[in-house]
Amino acid sequence: MLQQLRDLVASANAKGLVSQILHQHNELAPISGVDHAGVAHQALFGHPGAGLDDAARGGHEFDGNPRMYARGAPCRKGDVFRRVEIVADVFAGVCYCGQHCIRREFLDFEHARTFCQMNIPSGGTRLIDPSVPFFGEAAIRKILRYEDLIPAMERALIDFSAGRVVQPVRGILPVEQHQGFFGVMPAVYGDVFGAKLVTLFPLNAGTELSTHQGIIVIFRAATGEPIAVLDGRLITEMRTAAVSAVATKWLAKKDASILGILGSGVQARAHVHALGVVRRFSEVRIWSRTAVNAQSLAKEISGLATTAEDAVREAEVVVTVTHASEPVLRGEWVKPGALVCAVGAVGTTNRELDTAAMQGAVVVDSREAAQVESGDILLAGATVYAELGEILGGKAPMPSANTIVFKSLGLAVEDLAAAKLVLEQRRL
Ligand code: NDP
Repeated sequence: MLQQLRDLVASANAKGLVSQILHQHNELAPISGVDHAGVAHQALFGHPGAGLDDAARGGHEFDGNPRMYARGAPCRKGDVFRRVEIVADVFAGVCYCGQHCIRREFLDFEHARTFCQMNIPSGGTRLIDPSVPFFGEAAIRKILRYEDLIPAMERALIDFSAGRVVQPVRGILPVEQHQGFFGVMPAVYGDVFGAKLVTLFPLNAGTELSTHQGIIVIFRAATGEPIAVLDGRLITEMRTAAVSAVATKWLAKKDASILGILGSGVQARAHVHALGVVRRFSEVRIWSRTAVNAQSLAKEISGLATTAEDAVREAEVVVTVTHASEPVLRGEWVKPGALVCAVGAVGTTNRELDTAAMQGAVVVDSREAAQVESGDILLAGATVYAELGEILGGKAPMPSANTIVFKSLGLAVEDLAAAKLVLEQRRL
């Protein structure tokens, strides 16, 4: 056992993965290390010991699951062996990306910089310049807060509508054999530019993989240097809900008290949190195609699972967040004065809202995208009133129509602004 640990430490050092092995402690030695960026990784196995204390005294930052180094946490011998195997696999290059396998099995392991790039077996070429930091989902989750993201989205939408962003409509390539889509979303925004490469694979629903996954690459505008690569899944989740929160903040009744949600997936959950930052809802009503999913979300957030009609009828804010291609929301259900945030249904032939629901003022994130990507608008023959950024920036007055639909398609500048926020917050 101890020999195994020693071998692992030696192997880690030899590969430059861990520039400093901090301590070994009895038989259940914690192994932790400081990577080249000075970020100390949590103990990979074993219960806490002096090594971790040493790291703390050294002023290193600790990332990861606190359970792994909570003082006195019990660690059974079997667990130690299993972890040794996993760590050995990573060090041996069995797993390129380490992060996924490790996180799913046991740990919330953040490889802040070069970890996976340096694990390429048989002396292969590095995938990217290791000086470009990678921010995984765990790191982003610790940094990004709706309280910061919502104002950042406001600024991005204003800048977009004021013509201060260079951004083509996204390219979407079908991956027909797997019913998937690959989206390419570039933008130039202030002192950065970059792109999100995003995938939508609806058949992932119900598996351990998310239906939306992606990567964001961000460059310095002044020099063209790559600054960072960030996981795009959580940023997509949060920035989309944050944009709906911006729409809700500005376009929904101030005293809105009932939130109706059609859908129960990632976006449904994210919207509950984000919209809760800008309005105090006393009740959240949820409908989903699969009733048990609505019930489980309702239980999680102390909401009410109900029919689609009942979710909408009395709601002052309605959110549609489904993969539906046929309408799930009927205009006749919508309460006068309500705001509908229509977030799902990307593509000219997909719609979540029927024609009657599109009769009020239609506000969009991008007019240009709406004309080529929104079945909700095109199939209803609806006219766009304004971009949200035009209203926020004072270029268009607040709509006076009784009901308002905010059609969200998602913009590359939202991803860049969120990514930039992660980098800025990280420096704080
Ligand atoms: P999830 O896969 O997590 O959830 C999908 C939801 O859609 C589930 O509640 C599912 O219901 C429901 N659903 C699936 N098929 C149908 C159908 N045929 N009819 C009715 N409901 C259906 O996805 P997300 O929450 O991540 O995304 C939701 C939507 O938001 C998607 O359309 C996505 O493309 C869009 N989106 C938009 C963004 C933007 O910027 N505007 C950004 C990100 C996502 P159940 O599980 O009950 O069967």
